[in-house]
Amino acid sequence: MFDVPAEALGFVSAHKRFLISTHVNPDGDGIGSAMGLKWALVRLGKEAEIVIESDPPAMYDFFGNYGWVKGIGPATAPLEKFDTVITVDAPNIERLGKAAQLIAGGAKVMVIDHHVSNEKFGDVNYIDETAAASAEMIYRFVRALGLTPDRDCAEYLYSGILIDTGRFRFSNTSPEVLRAGADLVAAGARPHKIAERLFFTNTFETTKGLGKMIESIQLHAGGKVATAEFGLEYINSEEWKKVDTEGFVNHPLAIEGVEVAVFFKEVKPGVTRASLRAKNDFDVNAVAGIFGGGGHAKAAGCTINAPLEEAKKKLLGEIAKAL
Ligand code: 5GP
Ligand code: MN
Repeated sequence: MFDVPAEALGFVSAHKRFLISTHVNPDGDGIGSAMGLKWALVRLGKEAEIVIESDPPAMYDFFGNYGWVKGIGPATAPLEKFDTVITVDAPNIERLGKAAQLIAGGAKVMVIDHHVSNEKFGDVNYIDETAAASAEMIYRFVRALGLTPDRDCAEYLYSGILIDTGRFRFSNTSPEVLRAGADLVAAGARPHKIAERLFFTNTFETTKGLGKMIESIQLHAGGKVATAEFGLEYINSEEWKKVDTEGFVNHPLAIEGVEVAVFFKEVKPGVTRASLRAKNDFDVNAVAGIFGGGGHAKAAGCTINAPLEEAKKKLLGEIAKAL
């Protein structure tokens, strides 16, 4: 019923001390999957540390045992390197960023992920592109191990699923993921509390930032493409530190007639991050791939080594070719 490859379950039983990590700037799926997996490993009497590149995002601080998540820094300095690693929601090893420093040479790696662009970089690769979220895969994993999630675990996994399905709204909202959601609510996850924290609680700066993003929207290609952008000046400002842009790109995408939306941020001089979203049949994973990024057909990202205007021109050129 909970179809998990025996090899993936065997990886857990064969080892004792695990590093769990996920992609840089982790979203709710990365964090929720890592927390759910650690919960399961602890239940099995294993040791596990969750390490990510940067400080844990504040948005998930309502999770029980959130202290489990450590950013590379003083908290991880005493840790010995790990011979066994499980990555969740990460399509390649580079996406772990500095957390990869904790992987010992010759370490055994298991990859659990749902990205179409996953590079299958593990010794064991449990990849399911049909899963709506990595957290849906961890849910199956927990169940396949014979464990019953408690409220904390249920909330980690429900949150991951909620983020990656756009609150059970995107085209990846399958009967299976809805059943997983129902089971997690039965196990104690509180949908109202989670939705309120994740979608209806913002800092003042985030709300003002949303206005700024909306002001910056431009249409291209006869209204089929919408862009929004944040330049260096804003990103270097004090207020930026309190801005969380999760979900911002859905606003340009929601404009009638728009099929592709791109949200650009010049994160450092000459380095621009692009967050891409698509409606209908357009494949943004393919476009992001041209720039060394990836993700899913309808949600992808990439980093372009160029200032904002130049990055925008390049990416819009590729989108125009694919439209
Ligand atoms: P977001 O736009 O929310 O940052 O990312 C959308 C999706 O694309 C997520 O699934 C994310 O993991 C993936 N993604 C974002 N940036 C990159 C990137 O630079 N490389 C790869 N391989 N995937 C990315
Ligand atoms: Mn995901």
